[in-house]
Amino acid sequence: MITRVSEKGDGKEFVSHAPGFWPNTAPEIWNDWKWQLKNRVTSLAQLEQHLDLSDEERSGVLLSGDKLALAITPHFFNLVPRSNPEDPIRRQVIPRVEEIWTSPYDMADPCGEDSHMPVPGLVHRYPDRVLFLVTDRCASYCRYCTRSRVVSGVGEQELHTNFEEAFRYLESHTEVRDVLLSGGDALIFSDDKIDKLLSRLRAIKHIEFLRIGTRVPIFLPQRITPELCAILAKHHPLWMSVHVNHPRELTMEVKQALERLANAGIPLGNQSVLLNRVNDNLETMKTLVHKLLMCRVRPYYIYQCDLINGSSHLRTSVAKGIEIIEGLRGHTTGYAVPQYVIDAPGGGGKVPINPGYILYHDNEKIVIRNYEGKIFEYPETGNENVQFAPQREYHDEYLYS
Ligand code: SF4
Repeated sequence: MITRVSEKGDGKEFVSHAPGFWPNTAPEIWNDWKWQLKNRVTSLAQLEQHLDLSDEERSGVLLSGDKLALAITPHFFNLVPRSNPEDPIRRQVIPRVEEIWTSPYDMADPCGEDSHMPVPGLVHRYPDRVLFLVTDRCASYCRYCTRSRVVSGVGEQELHTNFEEAFRYLESHTEVRDVLLSGGDALIFSDDKIDKLLSRLRAIKHIEFLRIGTRVPIFLPQRITPELCAILAKHHPLWMSVHVNHPRELTMEVKQALERLANAGIPLGNQSVLLNRVNDNLETMKTLVHKLLMCRVRPYYIYQCDLINGSSHLRTSVAKGIEIIEGLRGHTTGYAVPQYVIDAPGGGGKVPINPGYILYHDNEKIVIRNYEGKIFEYPETGNENVQFAPQREYHDEYLYS
């Protein structure tokens, strides 16, 4: 059954596709997150039962077994159309033969995490915060995953997180005030395990702030039970970054799951990855950010796709990302505009990438342009002790047009 809450036909509908390819599944079974995990689509035979695969996809599935596993929850699989290999949802989760292509820029660990790991599973790259890789498993696997070297358990490396050593490191590093739980995806743990993990971190007094990076509310919205929300709410301040790339991923079930999290007092942000023929156009991104706000999620980052091995077919140009931000900033609600970033290859961290709004800047003035291309000057006053280097020369096309 397909149920819509909006009939506007503008792509902003919240649609339920349940039970879709599983027509004989009773709602109470369908809504059981453990059933969803047990019944994931993981094999070529299952795919062929439901989809008309292209040659590129069939070869990709056969080759995925030692790179990044194939797994898609029934909930998310219902978003995949039977016969369009170019579909933006399908391109994210169905392996393709292009994954074995190599580009000269490809890297196994594009964010340089392994070289910033003082303890197995704990990445300490920025001064006051750490990334805690608590599992290598996810509800479904994204073909562009930046951690595909370890995620899913079939890649070239294994994740051996040492929890006790990590807790000891955090206890002795009083500069760490922010811990981001990621992986993999911590929300596929049991309620009890999540509670214990968060309690252990909360017992470290200098940790002010906990975050969970998760795609579970999107792949497996059934997991966001009232019981889980009550556990998470015990550990505030706890924030969550979800991961949605295309507006169709925001189904009715996902919207309801996000509302449950928001009602538990969890501030929600979204991280999208800019992907070729998935979301690399302004119209799709604008629909996505508007739907996110309707789900009480603040669009937070758009990532330029990392240079992960085998992802060149999913990467798109930086110019395209800048064009999308240019088309959002000023043209729609400020809360809807995410920060576009490149995670600097090799471990340089996130670098914000913005359209050029500063045309000139010295110790007397700044010359700026607005979203309509109009030029303005603002005096630089009260900064006698600050030395400025001009950032850019005037751009003739802005000054004289
Ligand atoms: S959910 Fe996140 S960690 Fe898991 S495969 Fe997707 S991008 Fe990678």
